Amino acid sequence: MQLTSFRVKPTTAVDLDAVPTRSTDGFSGDKAAGRARTAELALRIAELQRMLFAGATERLLLVLQAPDAGGKDAIIAALLSGVNPQGTRVANFKQPSDEELAHDYLWRVHRHAPAKGEIAVFNRSHYEDVLVVAVHDLVPERIWSRRYEHINGFEKMLADEGTTIIKLFLHLSPEEQAVRFQERIDDPTKHWKFRRGDLDERARWTDYRVAFEAMLARTSTEWAPWYIIPADRTWYRNLVAAEIVVSTLESLGLRYPDPEPGLEGLKIR
Ligand code: ADP
Repeated sequence: MQLTSFRVKPTTAVDLDAVPTRSTDGFSGDKAAGRARTAELALRIAELQRMLFAGATERLLLVLQAPDAGGKDAIIAALLSGVNPQGTRVANFKQPSDEELAHDYLWRVHRHAPAKGEIAVFNRSHYEDVLVVAVHDLVPERIWSRRYEHINGFEKMLADEGTTIIKLFLHLSPEEQAVRFQERIDDPTKHWKFRRGDLDERARWTDYRVAFEAMLARTSTEWAPWYIIPADRTWYRNLVAAEIVVSTLESLGLRYPDPEPGLEGLKIR
């Protein structure tokens, strides 16, 4: 699969209407084959994470942003099902508390960045501060419009200090979101996933689209690229996300640490 085709080139305008949400580009198999391949990739992620943890030198940060029902939770489950919970952390960024709001917007974020040997996943992130905040006018535009630059600087600092960053935007169509919301209303096991407020956000689809496009165009960088993943087909979405994570981890040249000198041939009595 040609992963660069999903990657947003730095400082390039993004028109999400021109990017398909249902494609299966780069994969010739069907849904079953796609799921099987994702399961293989999840095993590979688990193996690479063991090396990452053992080596304790590299850090990986995976940022997930999407419209509601885009599949952030499902991606986390699909990709991280095999990993050792030690060394992996998922941070969920919800509405900020009063204490968080009393600080700058990156204050609550930084402490969740990965330590050496860790994979950290941001389920929503500091990008909410240029998304929901812009759409709902939670702070004036003159304040939030400066944040792209701060965010690029913040991520550059993390990258310079040794954190590898990948950012996945799950590109869902409004039609598929409607189908998923309906399932959440009709299926009692999914009621918990639906809040009436989700419909208010849905009504602002166009405003979110503008905010997502600005985010993608202004914060995809060499050191922290955005990938736009077609998300209407769940199996293809998981597959592309898994391919990106595997290829990124593989590019780190991970290996198990060398043994202490003199261990070779040692017999335990
Ligand atoms: P999720 O949809 O991620 O599963 P929730 O349904 O609890 O989780 O939604 C979290 C909510 O918190 C979202 O509506 C999101 O926009 C909001 N949120 C996250 N970060 C911020 C922020 N910095 N400012 C305002 N709202 C935020």
